[in-house]
Amino acid sequence: MPGPGYAFLGQEERQNVEEVLKNWDLTRFAYDAPEKTTFVRGLELSAQQVFNSPYAIAVNSGTSALLTALAALDIGPGDEVIVPGYTFIASLGSIVYSGATPVLAEVDTSLTLDPQDVENRITARTRAIMAVHMLGAPCDMDALTAIANRHGLAIIEDTAQACGATYRGQRLGAIADIGAFSLNPFKVITSGEGGLVLTSDERLYKRAYAFQDQGWSPLRADRDQSDGDILFGLNLRMAELAAAVGIAQLDKLDTVLGQVRSAKQHLASLIPTMPGLSRRTLHDAQGECGTLLIYVLDDPAAATELAAALDSKTMINSGRHYYANMPQLAGLADATATPFRRATNNSTPDYRKGSLPQTDDVLARSIALSVGVSDSYLGAGFGITARSTTDQIAQTAEEFTQAATKILG
Ligand SMILES: *Cc1c(COP(=O)(O)O)cnc(C)c1O
Repeated sequence: MPGPGYAFLGQEERQNVEEVLKNWDLTRFAYDAPEKTTFVRGLELSAQQVFNSPYAIAVNSGTSALLTALAALDIGPGDEVIVPGYTFIASLGSIVYSGATPVLAEVDTSLTLDPQDVENRITARTRAIMAVHMLGAPCDMDALTAIANRHGLAIIEDTAQACGATYRGQRLGAIADIGAFSLNPFKVITSGEGGLVLTSDERLYKRAYAFQDQGWSPLRADRDQSDGDILFGLNLRMAELAAAVGIAQLDKLDTVLGQVRSAKQHLASLIPTMPGLSRRTLHDAQGECGTLLIYVLDDPAAATELAAALDSKTMINSGRHYYANMPQLAGLADATATPFRRATNNSTPDYRKGSLPQTDDVLARSIALSVGVSDSYLGAGFGITARSTTDQIAQTAEEFTQAATKILG
């Protein structure tokens, strides 16, 4: 089972898809006419409501949403973007393809950005902080916002893994300058492939809209482009079939989250506290999605042993999420990575294993139990799903407790 939303796909999604097929209305724009009523526009309006954001744009993936956010902020060659050394590779890829330089920062026991380390890495070139709400839980947004304000930086919220979560009552992705979501099958809700961009800033909205739709003004309404920035765009538009699924999933978001959260709470309540075993730090325990239950052990050797006993792995072994498991970064550092062969600037950051000792340490001691998201690349091969029965949850808790007691007791 991929993400929890996948388990809730049903009649509502099917009905919308059949509606699209009835007239073969496969795209939000027929020719270059202004848009009429479509599922893509419906999804955008619904997202504005759900996340309480003045503007929403549906795009074809989470990676596209991040690239669009960076383009809206006019981030490019010569600019630096601070990003955690623990995140999905797409966070880095989007920065690289915008032409900017990713600068890696440490995560702490929240498995999200360590604000102090972020501030230490700010240079004259820094333009933005990519705050990745990792594994369903918010970053320390108060601390990051204070730092961004102090240094005149933008914050991009990478909300791909935390759709619907809140921080002090505000939905993630709608707190900072611009937010990016993914609707791929491993996320909280899905449209098959898809993404969303949120902002409350009209100028960023216009630029973001233009970037994902060949430089057009919003909804192609201003045919003469008399208003706003003129920029080249790409085609990153969401298709109607995806939106037909996505809009039904967005309607179910709070239902999905409710089930995931109560499953997580139940699982956690059955696992006793023991010395050497802590829970991940949460910056908003009520607001997080609850898609994973994460333990941070005191001792890395014990963590490795426990992971093996569960037929899982510690998080330092997560492919494509931990910087030292991304061979692409080496090519970036020596300017041989496609298509960035030209020398970048002289001060290429250090991406080698060991350059983020705190991140290396925390991930070597962390184990994720799947609750709604089961993804071997996250090291979450052991756990339950949003649909697990009380008996299954009890059995999983028992297995974990026995293995942990044997190793730590
Ligand atoms: C999934 C994910 C993305 C990319 O989303 P896609 O829809 O797969 O392109 C970006 N950032 C993070 C943190 C993710 O987990």
